[in-house]
Amino acid sequence: MAITVPLESQQRTVALTFDDLPANTIRGPDAYDTILEPIMYDLQNLGVPAIGFVNESKLYDGDRIVRDHVRLLERWLEAGLALGNHGYEHLDLHTTSLATYLNDIDRGGEVTGNLLYQRGRALEFYRHPMLHTGTTLAIRDSVSGHLTATGMRVAPVTIDNQEWIFARAYERAVVCEDAQAQRDVADLYVAYMDTMTGYYEAQSRAIVGREIPQILLLHANQLNADYLSPLLERYRRRGYQFVTLEEALADPVYSRTDTYSGQGGITWLHRWALTDGKGGSFFAGEPSVPDIVQYLYNAARTAC
Ligand SMILES: [Zn+2]
Repeated sequence: MAITVPLESQQRTVALTFDDLPANTIRGPDAYDTILEPIMYDLQNLGVPAIGFVNESKLYDGDRIVRDHVRLLERWLEAGLALGNHGYEHLDLHTTSLATYLNDIDRGGEVTGNLLYQRGRALEFYRHPMLHTGTTLAIRDSVSGHLTATGMRVAPVTIDNQEWIFARAYERAVVCEDAQAQRDVADLYVAYMDTMTGYYEAQSRAIVGREIPQILLLHANQLNADYLSPLLERYRRRGYQFVTLEEALADPVYSRTDTYSGQGGITWLHRWALTDGKGGSFFAGEPSVPDIVQYLYNAARTAC
């Protein structure tokens, strides 16, 4: 008789990726260290690898580079974490000329590339802002060709999510000193990410026929600064081990044919599904953001 192993006890792997370093915040550059320090502390403390994707325009005050911001990135590397390029100004490929976009990639790796070079490492990964990889295959391939020519490769995502909506709602509650709203949003966030991960586990089984090493998209924001540990605990409970982006990408699934181009900033699982002719209702069941969080997100532009 076959023994069925519960899914939760299976070995799963996930690579953590944080976008918008040094931080994505409505509070301005003064909040960068308040956000990034606890994230790197938790990662180092838990022995969890991660890569952070930098927008180098945030390192400058006008034309002047801000030493404290660069120092934050140095501490991130000293904590054993990796850095990648997320574009100098976080441009949207779908509303930017190709020449401007490629120039933004090159400029976006100057400081980070130097920090890595000083440590005997190289800038290897590029993450497209908004996961916008090109509305045509010609544009997409021009960008990836440029990355290859400069020694980089694309950092895909397989677990996309609307964490950024929770984060904006949460940071508004921080600014407004609303402790109850902070706790409510954070609890809903951790539960939502758990459900979302289950959704992408199922999508992986349906699209690839097995669970692949997942690549999770997060941002360097106050919500993760405060709630990374409980979030990672949920992953551990689902049977996950944390691996580097390189380790995840060593799985052969990441050389799978992908002919996707279009407006959507979608996951690589869904790119592979569309390449295989699957779509529409196939993607149904993606967890939604709770109404209260959406309400608080919408209120984020208004005064407390
Ligand atoms: Zn981003």
